Amino acid sequence: MTIDYELALVRAVAELDVVLRRLIGHPVSIVGSWLPEQPRPTFALTGVLAGPREPVQTEAAPAYATDRRVVAELAVRTTQVRWERVGADLEVPEPGVGWRGQLAEDAPEGWLRAGVISVGPGWADLLRAAVELIHEIPGAAIETSDLKQKYGSMRWYARCPVPPPRRLTPEGQARIAAILEASGIVSWATCEDCGAPGKLHDDRDWIQVLCGRHHREIEES
Ligand SMILES: [Zn+2]
Repeated sequence: MTIDYELALVRAVAELDVVLRRLIGHPVSIVGSWLPEQPRPTFALTGVLAGPREPVQTEAAPAYATDRRVVAELAVRTTQVRWERVGADLEVPEPGVGWRGQLAEDAPEGWLRAGVISVGPGWADLLRAAVELIHEIPGAAIETSDLKQKYGSMRWYARCPVPPPRRLTPEGQARIAAILEASGIVSWATCEDCGAPGKLHDDRDWIQVLCGRHHREIEES
């Protein structure tokens, strides 16, 4: 397939802009580039301030203490993973267990089991991005006990193996915890069905983060 990189990049930047506005709540300038020889687009951000901030997404969302730069970093990585997949013309993972098994298999051994992943396929790219970021921390290791959706957002319960790996520093452990928390925050702006930018919808007897298209499909069904 031939990718129109210029068009794809415009769309990727637009998506990232929507997600960051919802999560960070102040203007962030995004400069993107995507060359045919690169597997994924790259983004440079300016305007992400350090320090925690309450999410602007929804009153239902709890306050969080994670540095918003980690949130921005994970949102960027998620967009990169998503557009690398879209560029390769890969479909959104189908509901069912197949994508979960693949995700667990691709993660470092022991980090995730397909059986503990009970979220929708739209969050597959977010999970891949978080696993990548954690894997880049020297000595990092996690064991996931539960990964589910609660009140619309993702809850990822994982801990460091005991005793922790020798190369893993306390700073590394803190960063793992921040990335796990950030994954829940980024999920507030990510459609659980398809991974496009989404919003929390609680207008029926359920709460779910959905993009406009998937929200309409449910409304019409
Ligand atoms: Zn969707």
